[in-house]
Amino acid sequence: MSENTPITVAYGDGIGPEIMQATLDVILAAGAKLDIEVIEIGEKVYSRGNTAGIEPSAWDSLLRTRVFLKAPITTPQGGGFKSLNVTTRKTLGLYANIRPCYSYYPFVETKHPVMDVVIMRENEEDTYAGIEYRHTDQVTQCLKIISEPGSEKIIRYAFEYARANKRKKVTCFVKDNIMKITDGLFHKIFDKIGEEFPDLEKETWIVDIGAAKLATSPEQFDVIVMENLYGDILSDVTAQMTGSVGLAGSANIGDKCAMFEAIHGSAPRRAGQNSANPSGLLLGAVMMLAHIKQSDVAQKVHNAWLKTIEDGIHTYDIFREGTSKEKVGTKEFAQAVIARLGQKPAKLKDVTYNDFEVKSYDHYDYKKIKKAKKETVGCDIYLHWNEGSANELGEKLSSLAVSGLKLVMISNRGVKVYPHGNAETFCVDHWRCRFQSVNEGESVNHSKIIEQLNTLQNAGYDFIKTENLCTFDGVPGFSLAQGQ
Ligand code: NAD
Repeated sequence: MSENTPITVAYGDGIGPEIMQATLDVILAAGAKLDIEVIEIGEKVYSRGNTAGIEPSAWDSLLRTRVFLKAPITTPQGGGFKSLNVTTRKTLGLYANIRPCYSYYPFVETKHPVMDVVIMRENEEDTYAGIEYRHTDQVTQCLKIISEPGSEKIIRYAFEYARANKRKKVTCFVKDNIMKITDGLFHKIFDKIGEEFPDLEKETWIVDIGAAKLATSPEQFDVIVMENLYGDILSDVTAQMTGSVGLAGSANIGDKCAMFEAIHGSAPRRAGQNSANPSGLLLGAVMMLAHIKQSDVAQKVHNAWLKTIEDGIHTYDIFREGTSKEKVGTKEFAQAVIARLGQKPAKLKDVTYNDFEVKSYDHYDYKKIKKAKKETVGCDIYLHWNEGSANELGEKLSSLAVSGLKLVMISNRGVKVYPHGNAETFCVDHWRCRFQSVNEGESVNHSKIIEQLNTLQNAGYDFIKTENLCTFDGVPGFSLAQGQ
């Protein structure tokens, strides 16, 4: 039996084929033991009318090898085409996006000479669940979904990664001063899992000030874990802070599959010129080698690459007169790394890789998460209405409350406008009308809610949706309106 590890490779679009060839040349020269299956994705597939950008046969390969080394692709502009990255992450359950951002000062110019930060981004949830609606003439909505298992997976991964890679601290960025329920859950799970890692320092920052601190003092951070949207934005910022997005690789890890890539795009204008920097994809491939337990090869390639950078052999994007020694093309850069295989950098810190096994979460039975005592205590009914003031609506709806229910409040864009609203509050055509039991705290059954909806419909109101108000072990699972 072959001792090679099967992997799936896509050469991608634009500069993709050149940087992929350079990457494969280096890792194979370093002794990577791979059986490579090549698949076609991206532009050519999209242009055949396949809006997903990937053929079923390519999925067969991915599901067989479960390891994907992917060059960047060009996403066609315009409607109808789906982002292949999002599709791949979701289809393969790649819940963790890992992006190490390291400063190579003084060999690569940067404002931040000391920087060694790993951004861990949750990859499947948050507003990226892609659940959006237009509710009214004036209002659209995007759902932010944060689940306990989803948060636990990425947070546990961050802690285990930190421990395996001899990191000292894990920081969590959240916005739970505003999103108390969703970001509050992420924060709570960070604290809970953190207790299992007494050897690691832990801290939590509100994302805005945390991001400001990261931008000015990145040396204070080590591993940072965050939800999808914050991670998307801050991982690009952090990579750019090291000097060039062309230098960063990224890993997308799931229980059963993993995908490795550069963080940059296909740079179509640079295509075919042998000028692109292959470093991002090469460092992505290094993470892949560690993932498939070829850590010795990962280490060899990474150290030879560091030595090449240190020797001033640079592609155009990082070339600077004075600092750099030789401006090279993609192929020549790869040859320079190959020539240094076995060497270590003299000034930059050399790297050590350990095999790091991602624990499968298959064995976690999330159904065993303790079931809380859930009680429905009311419901928010959203109306599309544009015929008067908040007080007028409040008075009409109060008189339409069915027996056992009362209108507790109305909010507009989250601000309470009835009762005792402020005439100055700007209102749109989208009203959240909260009905709760007449006897405070008493549970309300679903048929009562349906009766309330029927009554509103019969009175000519256009309801958009309802959100049930539930308590879990007596704790409200819904936010109060601002000013309530
Ligand atoms: P880009 O990352 O391709 O290019 C941005 C700038 O960085 C350009 O000036 C480019 O020349 C330079 N650059 C990027 N990579 C470089 C490298 N390796 N060496 C030297 N210079 C490099 O971003 P873009 O122009 O916004 O996007 C181009 C295409 O790539 C779009 O179709 C976009 O959808 C796609 N894209 C794909 C991925 C992916 O497949 N993972 C990621 C981002 C963008």
